[in-house]
Amino acid sequence: MTSELSNWKERWSSMSGAEREQLRHKNMLYRHNHKEEGKTYDQRYYQRLKLKVFQHYSGKEMPECGRCEFSDMRALCLDHVNGNGSEDRKRFHGSVHLFRHLRDKGYPDGYQILCANCNYIKASENGERGYSSPSRGETRESDYVRLHRVTIKEGGRN
Ligand SMILES: [Zn+2]
Repeated sequence: MTSELSNWKERWSSMSGAEREQLRHKNMLYRHNHKEEGKTYDQRYYQRLKLKVFQHYSGKEMPECGRCEFSDMRALCLDHVNGNGSEDRKRFHGSVHLFRHLRDKGYPDGYQILCANCNYIKASENGERGYSSPSRGETRESDYVRLHRVTIKEGGRN
């Protein structure tokens, strides 16, 4: 046991309950504040990088979905035109690395901006991510309902 640690233990045991509580609170606050600082810096860096990449691939100052023009950044994602997203995910271990790579490479072709909906619809059409691959258009809106014969029964729970 180091003397520093035994000093600390002595100090701790000589403290009153209120003093201990105060110290605990101070430490907690310190950790909290410094964690938040780090987080905001990382997040700001990430958001700025993401915006740059999305602006480039969408060709707009306000990035939007290439299919439906949806423009809420929270639900937009970078889509791999040829559907090799999982390859990239394996290679880059997360979007921040991929974004940085694309920026450093001068934004190579093969990517587009899609909203989460269009991204899933595209994946479904292409049979990506373990989706079965119905013929194109078969799963769209009313066709989907007709295909599966699902109707809402009035007044019933099923
Ligand atoms: Zn969309």
